[in-house]
Amino acid sequence: MSTEHIDVVIVGAGLAGLSCAVFLGMNGVKALVVERREGTSILPKARGANPVTMEALRTAGLAEAIHRAMPPGKPAITSVVSESLTGKVLYDHVAHRPDFSKFSPERPGMASQARAEEVLLRRALELGAQVRFKTRCESLAQDDEGVDLGLCDLDTERTRQVRARYVIASDGIRGSIAGWLGIGTHGLGAIKSVTAVRFKADLALWAGDNAMVIHYLQNPALPDGAGVLVSTDYKDEWVANMSADPERDEAGMREIIKIMTGLPELDFEIIGTVSYDYGHRIADRFRAGRVLLTGDAAHVMPPTGGQGGNTAVQDGYYLGWKLAAVIQGKAGPALLDSYEVERQPYAEEVCNWQVANLAERRRIGTLAEQVGAPLDHATLLFGYICPPNGALVPEPGSEDLRFEHPAQASGRPGARVPYVELEGVDGQKVAPRHLLGPWFMAFTAVPGGAEAALAAAGELGVEMKAYPVTSTAPLHAGEQQTVLVRPDGVVAWRGDDNAGIGRALRAVLCR
Ligand SMILES: Cc1cc2nc3c(=O)[nH]c(=O)nc-3n(C[C@H](O)[C@H](O)[C@H](O)COP(=O)(O)OP(=O)(O)OC[C@H]3O[C@@H](n4cnc5c(N)ncnc54)[C@H](O)[C@@H]3O)c2cc1C
Repeated sequence: MSTEHIDVVIVGAGLAGLSCAVFLGMNGVKALVVERREGTSILPKARGANPVTMEALRTAGLAEAIHRAMPPGKPAITSVVSESLTGKVLYDHVAHRPDFSKFSPERPGMASQARAEEVLLRRALELGAQVRFKTRCESLAQDDEGVDLGLCDLDTERTRQVRARYVIASDGIRGSIAGWLGIGTHGLGAIKSVTAVRFKADLALWAGDNAMVIHYLQNPALPDGAGVLVSTDYKDEWVANMSADPERDEAGMREIIKIMTGLPELDFEIIGTVSYDYGHRIADRFRAGRVLLTGDAAHVMPPTGGQGGNTAVQDGYYLGWKLAAVIQGKAGPALLDSYEVERQPYAEEVCNWQVANLAERRRIGTLAEQVGAPLDHATLLFGYICPPNGALVPEPGSEDLRFEHPAQASGRPGARVPYVELEGVDGQKVAPRHLLGPWFMAFTAVPGGAEAALAAAGELGVEMKAYPVTSTAPLHAGEQQTVLVRPDGVVAWRGDDNAGIGRALRAVLCR
């Protein structure tokens, strides 16, 4: 049988795989996505896209579609620690949430994982990806030139051979590919077994009509004294999350749901249950040769804090432009080394953060000791600094920091370009975070800086948008500098030497 040749095969059509397909497509690479299920997920799992994810999705033209896909109800979130749905509120997360509007132009999206996957799938197809459902990746072997995959059509049980230049393993928490490649994991492992019970009940009188409602319950009458009650995409459908117990029958679950709601007479119908482990596991490597891991295949975290799905989407965003540039010959293959260099430290921190939240919300002291206090929320979302051996030109003598509070942003290479406004030399306002897209950007107050940036990009065959501004000081750079920004909004270099722009671009692109 003949072998099909393709640039990129993505295994898994969850949030991670579909995001990779979208961000590759946006950068001009049409991937083949294979997924063993019949369609996208229907289970109520991840909820909500944070502002950083929304920025990424906006570059792909998806921000409004995600907002439109929010669950029924008022566009607002209830997220509290409480004794029960109708009981005392112990802490209101929303009331204590920092004001992120200073750090990002985007507001959070409220679409569930199921709706977000539908939106991503449609966009991936529009951008030219092929998506084959009911297709299982059964084998993978790589050499210096490419990767051979055995892909089984689950309808016919026939396996066909595909050869790809690169493979993205977005095969999730139960994926096999990392194991086939001999990639181990580290972390705390399985932390806690839980059972999620889906049930139908009219709780509007007590829950209100916010589109997203989540109660982290602390109540000595519950198993282990804790649980979670969360709304879904469907009016009157809820999920009750409780510590797992193999001995518990339906009557036991019903009793727990009555305690969670605080409504002993509640009339409701159980429509499904699933048990799984909260885990904490990070892949030792995010890349083996021509195979790159994204999403849960690379990092598993408990759901407390809602970053699992967000990190999965962001992996695709930060990888997409790099892999596309390598495939299109605009960057050397070494650019792909920076994916692990930059994403793994972030994944470590975000996995710890979710565990720290779990420890706090469920009062598990032993866990809290293992991971320490959670990082400040704004710092986690907006304050990451890529390591100096990432795709950037580090500044000599700068301290090797991984996080900084965005209110004290340094604007240094490796950090997000801050959410500020500059003044263009033509008097127009220039807001770098509103201008993100599949191109490099240069904000320059150096005479001849814009021309130098465009010439350097032209020579290397990459797209560049250059903005002459009156001052680069709002970017926390010097008054008269050029700040080079990557397609993912990360500062790559800053300096006042026009010849330096070309050198920086070459260094970033490993040319
Ligand atoms: C109950 C629950 C609540 C959660 N809540 C949140 C939340 O509020 N916010 C948040 O951000 N995150 C949350 N998460 C985490 C979030 O759901 C995951 O992080 C997210 O699904 C990761 O996406 P993924 O694409 O990496 O993996 P998945 O969604 O698991 O997708 C992997 C896909 O790969 C496919 N696959 C695997 N092997 C193969 C193969 N060999 N061939 C073909 N296909 C294959 C699988 O069928 C699957 O569809 C929650 C998770 C759970 C379980």
